[in-house]
Formats: sequence, C-alpha cells, structure tokens
Amino acid sequence: MRLVLLGAPGSGKGTQADFLKAELRVPHISTGDLLRAAVKAGTPLGLKAKTVMDAGQLVSDDIVLGMLEERLSQGDVRSGFILDGYPRNLAQCEALEKLLARIGQPIDIAIKLEVPSELIVERIAGRAAAQGRVDDTPETVRERLRVYAEQTEPVASHFARQGKLQVVDGVGELADVTGRILAALPPERASA
Ligand code: AMP
Repeated sequence: MRLVLLGAPGSGKGTQADFLKAELRVPHISTGDLLRAAVKAGTPLGLKAKTVMDAGQLVSDDIVLGMLEERLSQGDVRSGFILDGYPRNLAQCEALEKLLARIGQPIDIAIKLEVPSELIVERIAGRAAAQGRVDDTPETVRERLRVYAEQTEPVASHFARQGKLQVVDGVGELADVTGRILAALPPERASA
C-alpha cells in the first residue's frame, strides 16, 4: 500500500501515520522528520533548511526531493509506505509521480485529514508545550496554515482529479480517526 497523508499542520498526520504503519506493516516516511533529523545532526543541508523551517515556509523542492529519493531507495519501502508531509506543492507532486513511475510503484491513495482551523490552533499549542517545536509558535503556525492553503490544497485537488483522494474527518478519538482512515483504504490493503 502506497499512501499519501494530506492535511494541515496539526491535523494529526504524524500521529495517525504511527498507528497506520503498524496496521499496514509499511514504513512511515515524514519529510518533516527527515529534515528535523538533518537539522539536529547539523549537516550542511540541515543548516540550510533550519531558517526556512523556523519561519514556517517550505524548504526548497530540490533539497526535499533529494532526501526523499534517498529514503525511497531503501529496501523497506518495497512493501509500500505512508508518506506524510510530501508532496507539499504541485511541483513536488509531479516530481513524486515521475519518481514512482520510474520504479513502477504509483501512489494508491491519498487521504486528506480534515480538521477545523480553531481546533488546529489549539492542538498545535498543546504540541508546542509537549515537544517544544520551534515552528509551533502562533505566528509560525499562521504562516504554515497560509502556505498549506495556498500550496498544498491544490495537491489534494490533483489527487481528487485522479480519483485517488479520500477525505476523512480528523476530529475525535485517535482510534476512531484511524478506523475511518482504514475504512477509506482500497480493499486490497489486507494483502499490502
Ligand atoms: P512537518 O513536520 O511536515 O509539519 O514539516 C515541518 C517543516 O518542514 C515545514 O513547515 C517545512 O518547513 C518543512 N517541510 C516538511 N516537508 C516539506 C516538504 N515536502 N517541502 C518543503 N518543506 C517541507
């Protein structure tokens, strides 16, 4: 199963991906996590990305695609993957489709987690307190939501045009949301 998780910052993509990876037995690939690891390790790429991330803007397509290509070349993605945080704009979407076409592994489905903005702001404030993410300040959150609406919403429309988008209500108990996502997946998921 090759699944893309879409949704605004704070919609619960990372949390849900953690549950889903156990259920579907495929790795969770988060470009945000890959970037945060590069920042933490102090690599040249990480240093370049940090300022952009701290401002709530998108790291350059080239940097993120390079990291993703490397991750997708690892053996554990043969069974599929859950992609969280990528693609963030239409250019990334096109790059992903090209890359996956080359290895004959197209995206099966995109799930968009829908959560009202008031709840998002509340959730991110909670996450800021718990995890201390530098990009979880109110101003940065506003910028990330703006970037999402402007650049990432069109990605959902793109998958919708291909008949691959399922919109899932992301409000409620974590397990209920996971259940809704699993119910929205194509029937072959059991053998993925
Ligand atoms: P996330 O954990 O997915 O919310 O990502 C945190 C931050 O990492 C984002 O606000 C961006 O600055 C950066 N980032 C993550 N994924 C991407 C991506 N696909 N393209 C560009 N920047 C990204």
